[in-house]
Amino acid sequence: MNKELADLLFKDVKITVEEIEEKYKERNLPDGAYVTRFGPSPTGFMHVGNLYGAFISSLLAKQTGGVFYLRIEDTDSKREKVGAIEAIIDGLKAFDINYTEGYGVGGDYGPYIQSERVDIYKAYAKKLVSEGKAYPCFMTEEELAEIRSGQELRKEKIGIYGSYAVDRDLSFDEIKEHLAKGDSYVIRLKSPGDSHNNIILHDLIKGDITLPENDIDEVILKKDGIPTYHFAHVIDDHLMHTTHVLRGDEWVPSFPKHLQLNQVLGFKPCKYAHIAPLTKKEDGKIRKFSKRKDPEFAVSYYEEAGIPKDGVRLYLATLANTNFEEWYLQNKDKSIEDFKFSFKKMPTGGTLFDMEKLNNICRTYFSRISAETIYNDALDYYKKYDQDFYELMVKDKDKLTAFLNIERDSKRPRKDIATYKDIKIESSYIFNDIFYQDRNETYKDINEDIDFDIVNKYIEIYQDFNSEDEWYNQIKVLAEENGYAPSVKMYKENPTLYKGHIGDVCEMIRHLLTGRVKTPNLYQLLKIIGIEEFKKRVDFYTTEK
Ligand code: GLU
Repeated sequence: MNKELADLLFKDVKITVEEIEEKYKERNLPDGAYVTRFGPSPTGFMHVGNLYGAFISSLLAKQTGGVFYLRIEDTDSKREKVGAIEAIIDGLKAFDINYTEGYGVGGDYGPYIQSERVDIYKAYAKKLVSEGKAYPCFMTEEELAEIRSGQELRKEKIGIYGSYAVDRDLSFDEIKEHLAKGDSYVIRLKSPGDSHNNIILHDLIKGDITLPENDIDEVILKKDGIPTYHFAHVIDDHLMHTTHVLRGDEWVPSFPKHLQLNQVLGFKPCKYAHIAPLTKKEDGKIRKFSKRKDPEFAVSYYEEAGIPKDGVRLYLATLANTNFEEWYLQNKDKSIEDFKFSFKKMPTGGTLFDMEKLNNICRTYFSRISAETIYNDALDYYKKYDQDFYELMVKDKDKLTAFLNIERDSKRPRKDIATYKDIKIESSYIFNDIFYQDRNETYKDINEDIDFDIVNKYIEIYQDFNSEDEWYNQIKVLAEENGYAPSVKMYKENPTLYKGHIGDVCEMIRHLLTGRVKTPNLYQLLKIIGIEEFKKRVDFYTTEK
């Protein structure tokens, strides 16, 4: 009867499982190569958690000489959003997560979108029905709802299993009667499991997990013939020869179900790694990220905020493996790809995603790359988000590059830039167009008495020295001649003897030159801005408020 039933239910399905398997040949890859994938559902939002999984999956494939591919899992059409697939593709691209196979790229194992693979899933469902491992279930929505509320009331497990699975044992005649009446149905797996048995599931990150065997007759094909995620992804991972599945640990409860599906279908399951969720600290409390409350959860946030993609990648790597950060700090010239990732070093519990930490990593990142690279990347950013500053950057390219180069090659490079936005904030005073916009705004942090006498004398004697020591000595001599101590130490020993010390003189120059109390190296800034311009700025400061 099973064979006849299968033929009756799947009249239109001509292709057989054998024919399909024949098409999806083994991959020709070196030993130990990982085949990983990113399988997002196009629900309109790509979040950092998705990115994290995709990033590690792609790295593992790359490091092992394997393949990372993109598969769109669109079996839930109700949740699908217009433009969501493009958002996923853009999100991956924005963070250099490259795939050489998959949706939009092609490959030998496609189609790479589940809605175009329905015939394949049906062929497997047909096979299961013909083997008596799956069956049509005609229960109505009302019947299902009633079972569910009874189960909730009695605090039982929710689902169709055991005595609730009434259609398991329908006779062929009863099924034909339903069909004759045009009753709609789903195909359910006839679960061979017994929930009294515990099984041990091996997770690459969490280790062995003990869970009860699945005894729920899970839906594998919905009323419209579309598969459920559970059924579709197991078949796809088998046919596409995925070796390692990395996914969020919200899938752990379904893990027994998925292994059972593999077993029933006669597949060798892939290895699974369930990634702990990213969490956020707010008001001292740790909570899960929220789509609604946390703009930084969306991957689209980072580009606009000017956070460099490489900084985000470094941070994801830091989160992924506890020993990454130390390695990165010690290996200045290596790239993430050179680090050996391991599942064993991945966190097993909630992983705090801390924006401050990300910022610090970005500061280190910016301190390690060349001024030219920063300039060019920032140019792309400002072209898109701030046309006025973009034009200034183009006009004053040499000035800005020189500014970015201050203290760059030193032992302790500057760490004042964490985002592309910071470039404008930190450097704005080198651009005359910005500096002179609003006198009160420019000098808002300066509220000390300035000794114009010494500043003017300095302007007169200024020399464009090529040595910082010579430059400093000149100010020292000037300071001493004008009643300032040539060292802080001397000032501290006899404060009443002096008007102040050399440091005070430098600060006055810095304030008038930049409008700031904190800047990079003053000697370099004077060179970049120039003495003529400094003179003008002193006048600007003394103009009426
Ligand atoms: N489509 C699933 C999701 O978006 C993917 C889970 C998996 O990677 O297996 O959550």
